[in-house]
Amino acid sequence: MTFPVVGMVGGGQLARMTHEAGIPLGIRFKLLSDTPQDSAAQVVNEVVVGDYRDLETLRAFARGCDVITFDHEHVPTEHLRALEADGIPVRPGPGALVHAQDKGVMRAKLAEIGAPCPRHRIVADPADVAAFAAELERGGHEVPSGGAGGGRRADGFPVVLKTVRGGYDGKGVWVVRSEAEAAEPFRAGVPVLAEEKVDFVRELAANIVRSPHGQAVAYPVVESIQVDGVCDTVIAPAPELDERLAGEAQQLALRIASELGVVGHLAVELFETADGRILVNELAMRPHNSGHWTQDGAITSQFANHVRAVLDLPLGDPRPRAPWTVMCNVLGGDYPDMYQGYLHCMARDPQLKIHMYGKDVKPGRKVGHVNTYGDDLADVRERARHAADYLRGTITE
Ligand code: ADP
Repeated sequence: MTFPVVGMVGGGQLARMTHEAGIPLGIRFKLLSDTPQDSAAQVVNEVVVGDYRDLETLRAFARGCDVITFDHEHVPTEHLRALEADGIPVRPGPGALVHAQDKGVMRAKLAEIGAPCPRHRIVADPADVAAFAAELERGGHEVPSGGAGGGRRADGFPVVLKTVRGGYDGKGVWVVRSEAEAAEPFRAGVPVLAEEKVDFVRELAANIVRSPHGQAVAYPVVESIQVDGVCDTVIAPAPELDERLAGEAQQLALRIASELGVVGHLAVELFETADGRILVNELAMRPHNSGHWTQDGAITSQFANHVRAVLDLPLGDPRPRAPWTVMCNVLGGDYPDMYQGYLHCMARDPQLKIHMYGKDVKPGRKVGHVNTYGDDLADVRERARHAADYLRGTITE
């Protein structure tokens, strides 16, 4: 066989959809999965069940792979260095990936390259959090309080605390209003990062893909709407986003990718402030929920471009296919039979594309998403929202 083998660490839905994008190209995938039931393990032919935290498991898995890439950011950085030392291409490499693994490292690097960020520092204990809040109040805020909605008090609280490693979907993030409330994040025994609570008007994401020899493509900047810390809706492109700010966000993402040496898909999650600026929230170096719309709404999807990038193939056109594409996540609801909703949803909206991950339906769990597109934003949003709610079972007509 002359076709390369991509080794994918992690068996979640991102791995499943990356594999799907590799099929038309004849790319072979080998998967390292926690269980045989994981989302991607259900569809990939060659599955190794094992623990990605164990170096020997990773080494054995990597044998026979032409390149290693990821479904998540949790593989220990030192293991990735060991694989590289064994001569296996790891994409993105550990030198880049560490910035998506550790929020402290990420903030330090972004500050060094002059990327706009909320004020932040590593804090030692609750008293140090109170000291940080007081420093902010003495004039250190990056973003002026937006008045009533900002809710910032004379002692500088509220402040956002984050464990530097291991968080996802808002887990590992706390908004604390007092020194007493600041005790909880320190219980995990990992370093804690304090950030000013940004009074943002909305969240945006700038998604780009970069290949090893430095070619890069930028997708339109999207708006991402979170509910209870979980991504709910993504609108592409971000409605009424100032053209200058959109360009700035894309340039910023391209610059971060090049400074950090990112290979593959990079999502830069951003806050847009009332005074017309963007601040970086966090980085993800893999296909990302804010890029799922590209499967049906862009000429080349984030997954297809991630596969091309890790194999150092020329990247595909990132431009949108329609004026508006909206993605809504489908969360598990109270009844488990999602397939029942297909007939209604497909009949109602012929443009609708359903993507299900093969996961057991549990309340609040991301089990799939829908994409739909068209010329009229209000109509496209309504169709996507309706389908996601109907599949979940929160509406019945
Ligand atoms: P995760 O790794 O869990 O995705 P994030 O750092 O993205 O964590 O934070 C989750 C959510 O918390 C963000 O999407 C945003 O809504 C909110 N958030 C995070 N940092 C800040 C901040 N400095 N100011 C205001 N809100 C924040």
